[in-house]
Amino acid sequence: MSIVVKNLSKQFGSFKALDDVSLEAQSGSLLALLGPSGSGKTTLLRIIAGLESADRGSVLYEAEDVTHQSPKDRQVGFVFQHYALFRHMSVFENVAFGMRVRNRPGAEIKQRVQELLHLVRLEGLAQRYPSQLSGGQRQRVALARALAVQPRILLLDEPFGALDAKVRQELRQWLRQLHDEIHLTTIFVTHDQEEAFEVADRVVVMRGGHIEQSGSPQEVFDHPATPFVMDFLGNVNVFHGRVENGMAMLGALNIAYPEYPHAESRDATAYVRPHELDIERFPFGTSSLEVRVTQVNPAGSVAKIRVFSEQFGLALNVDLNLERYIELQLKPGDQVYVSARRVRVFMPNAPEYSI
Ligand code: ADP
Ligand code: MG
Repeated sequence: MSIVVKNLSKQFGSFKALDDVSLEAQSGSLLALLGPSGSGKTTLLRIIAGLESADRGSVLYEAEDVTHQSPKDRQVGFVFQHYALFRHMSVFENVAFGMRVRNRPGAEIKQRVQELLHLVRLEGLAQRYPSQLSGGQRQRVALARALAVQPRILLLDEPFGALDAKVRQELRQWLRQLHDEIHLTTIFVTHDQEEAFEVADRVVVMRGGHIEQSGSPQEVFDHPATPFVMDFLGNVNVFHGRVENGMAMLGALNIAYPEYPHAESRDATAYVRPHELDIERFPFGTSSLEVRVTQVNPAGSVAKIRVFSEQFGLALNVDLNLERYIELQLKPGDQVYVSARRVRVFMPNAPEYSI
């Protein structure tokens, strides 16, 4: 069941919460809505669920226009950040709730609840109460409860947002596995880019009520369409400067930039990810920047190096692969030279240029 959103707009008073938003989640896919707080993610999800109505635009499930259907008729499974389990009901009864409301026979309920608790890996806990569960277990119960009524689509609004980092990490892997087992078209809201990139088939980046970019995690990460996306994806080195005559003069880094051959000088900002910077012991070429190593942190398969340029008062993050790091034998205090393998230059009001 695909989900198609066409030209949705929504205002609260004079405030535009959604401004002409269109997207498609393909049948069986997992789509992440990623954006900072207030960007309209929850409003969009609630309109897709039928919990909120749009001022303009439509929502289709497959070819069926559901814009004016009630949430109940849409048959949506919904999980919120703050688990709304019934505290006075056992895990079993929480999961069974929707089926009891629909007067399903007892034997069917029992079998289905068992299947679902197996699916969310909580078989042994059917008789517990929510207060006897960890946060992660409660969210898995909430998911089992959402799945119990055999929804046509699944909508998750920051389902792991209230949990600590380690549990979030486990649950996002678990969610991906679960999705691969059940193949239910799912839209997953998060403000955490790592979560979106690890879990989703497709990422839609939102900002101020509109879609800034959508694509596969790889596409968005490798080709951020705007400075906002680049910045939001986190941990980038930013250089401010100018472009003119085929050169980008970014303070510390001067780089050939044939995409802008014009004589007229224009402001530009360049972004370089930590893994796109390299370190050498000796100066090389015309565009290496003298820096001092301030921190060295080998973490897993990369070493995270922090360096500082006295001349430009600029701190940079460099990720080196472990081999390169061992070869260089870097220590805090070392004087070294940094260069960029790849730079993305943005000029205000101009499309992206990459070198
Ligand atoms: P997100 O989920 O991305 O944090 P929301 O969709 O919750 O964003 O909210 C987007 C904007 O719309 C926010 O500025 C929020 O204050 C506003 N908003 C959301 N719901 C309402 C409402 N019912 N009434 C007034 N403003 C609202
Ligand atoms: Mg929200």
